[in-house]
Amino acid sequence: MSNCSRRNFLKNSVLLGTAGMIGCSSTSSDSTNPFVEVKDNSAPVVTEPPPNALAGKKLPTAVLGKTGITVPILSHGGLYELNTIMVARALELGINYFDVADCYLGGQSEIVLGKTLQKLGKRKEAFIVSKYHPKVPNDMIEGINERLTNLQTDYLDAYYIHQLGDGEYPQGCELWPKMKEWKDVAEKLKKEKKINFFGFSCHAGILPQAMEAAAEGGFVDLIMFRYNFRSVNSDALNRAIDKAKKANIGLVAMKTQGGRVSFQTKADAFKEKGFNQAQSTLKAVWSDGRIDTIVSNMPSLQIVQENATAALENRISAVERELLDKYAKETNHLVCHGCDNICSPHVSTPVRIGDTLRYLMYHDNYQDPTMAKTLFSRLPSEARAAILRTDYNQAEMACPHGLKIGKMMSEALNKLA
Ligand code: SF4
Repeated sequence: MSNCSRRNFLKNSVLLGTAGMIGCSSTSSDSTNPFVEVKDNSAPVVTEPPPNALAGKKLPTAVLGKTGITVPILSHGGLYELNTIMVARALELGINYFDVADCYLGGQSEIVLGKTLQKLGKRKEAFIVSKYHPKVPNDMIEGINERLTNLQTDYLDAYYIHQLGDGEYPQGCELWPKMKEWKDVAEKLKKEKKINFFGFSCHAGILPQAMEAAAEGGFVDLIMFRYNFRSVNSDALNRAIDKAKKANIGLVAMKTQGGRVSFQTKADAFKEKGFNQAQSTLKAVWSDGRIDTIVSNMPSLQIVQENATAALENRISAVERELLDKYAKETNHLVCHGCDNICSPHVSTPVRIGDTLRYLMYHDNYQDPTMAKTLFSRLPSEARAAILRTDYNQAEMACPHGLKIGKMMSEALNKLA
């Protein structure tokens, strides 16, 4: 079974194995054992997790910039159900940062995490981040109450504008992180004690500009951004990271795997040399001392264990670095790097290349067609309608990674429309 298939198998095993349990909102549990579920009118069902191979070990930590909060260098992304098994194991390892959003699993990611933390009585130990898609600053104020209700809490540790710069946001949004209207919202929510920290997530081409704006604005506490072994050499991004770090903003990396499922065989080719692609890509990011934590998509205990093992030995070796560079060279043309400020000026229609290809990645790599289709449907209708009639020749020539943009855009339309 390939690593990809194995991960999918494990993901499905865990999710299927716990889905019924989570769906039983009227169940109660033995509060002394997070792995025992008592269904109504039935005997307790012991949902025994696999043993913790890292028992007794705690992951290394880092201070999240100006927040002063200490978090593990590996954190949980929430594109899956953070149920009692997942959260209890995470806490055993010291992983207490949980990242969810209004749109993950159609809102279920927040609801399940809230219910789980209540059940385990661990709200105070957790660092909860949730995210929202505002159109104007006041939307963040309207969105907070639903986040708190879903998560069964009266405060968020951090609240992010989600995916700043995506197709749903207006031009010029890269300046929001230094605009007074947004500062006022962040301060109001903090004053009302509904949030402790404010930030944004971003994987769009505007990332360097948004990051620099945040460093200048002074009110953004945290930035979660796309950063991986493919992007570490971007000059513009590196300058922006330096500036944000100097402003003491907490830096959270995401999308650290740099896309992979469709070309897993390339990684498999390096295996005999001891190359574990998932672990090496994480170590490449941790080796950049500017990054405080990685939010990782870890939908099974097996993946948590693999990633936690990498976190315990978090510096990349010279051999791994060399293999990773070779792997990047062989696969860079297969994955969109999100630098659509380069290719977009070379098309004459309003298509959104970076957004569309990222949603294709959500569909294929993250295997979350619902979220991928929802995000695609939020693109302006003219951006969707123009996909097939657009001439991508010039954009393909401009793409520094040699992507077959036209082919990938029509594939995205077929899968997401
Ligand atoms: S198609 Fe190429 S230039 Fe455009 S965003 Fe993707 S990687 Fe960057």
